[in-house]
Amino acid sequence: MIVNFLGTGTSQGIPIIGSDHPVCLSSDSKDKRLRVSIWIRWDDYSYVIDCGPDFRQQMLRANCKKVDGILFTHEHADHTAGIDDIRPFNFRQGEMPIYAHPRVIENIKSRFAYIFQTENKYPGAPSVRTIEIANNHPFELGHKSIIPIDALHGDLQVFGFRIDRFAYLTDVKSIEESEIAKLNDLDVLVINALREEPHFSHFNLQDALDFIALVKPKKAYLTHISHIMGFHEEVQKKLPENVFLAYDNLEITL
Ligand SMILES: [Zn+2]
Repeated sequence: MIVNFLGTGTSQGIPIIGSDHPVCLSSDSKDKRLRVSIWIRWDDYSYVIDCGPDFRQQMLRANCKKVDGILFTHEHADHTAGIDDIRPFNFRQGEMPIYAHPRVIENIKSRFAYIFQTENKYPGAPSVRTIEIANNHPFELGHKSIIPIDALHGDLQVFGFRIDRFAYLTDVKSIEESEIAKLNDLDVLVINALREEPHFSHFNLQDALDFIALVKPKKAYLTHISHIMGFHEEVQKKLPENVFLAYDNLEITL
């Protein structure tokens, strides 16, 4: 399985439009972060988790030619706003399967009503097939079991996903013990870490490190990073041996 980090930034991305913050002005490519998303491939299968406003640019940059489905963690715009750009895949492959919590599907239906229009739908509009995800109901994609992991982003429910010995969780602020138990024996855990200062709906760096110490994956990668976390190179030096700051274009093989 190959995991490609399409984006590792928080909601505004880095650089932030108009910002003079030193991290936003950095020339290090690892300090440039599109909105958070990953592309996962195994055998001939290809899936994307989340579809934020940078989706088109991410698909072009990664040279992704086929997507068999999109899994959504939650409905916030930095995770969903790119859905109109699935059209090139629709034209080649047909309907795009999208997997999400029923609440997220309803939210996407109201925000992107034109996609779900049954009468007089514009012929070039995106087309999707919705598949509901429920906690404690693993589902199969490409002969692999996908285990939903339930967590809270402030007050909002979010899903993370475990596939074999890989797990991807973003926008987590709290998670119950019964869900943490689903993360045993991981080779790689991806978890969000916004910045050093606390935040009401995101793990900060210490929260993420404490969570990693609890879950004990072989390796952990931090994502959904704000510019105020600091320069990639400097933050990486402060991290434990098996913890890495993810960056855009990073590809890991499991
Ligand atoms: Zn987010």
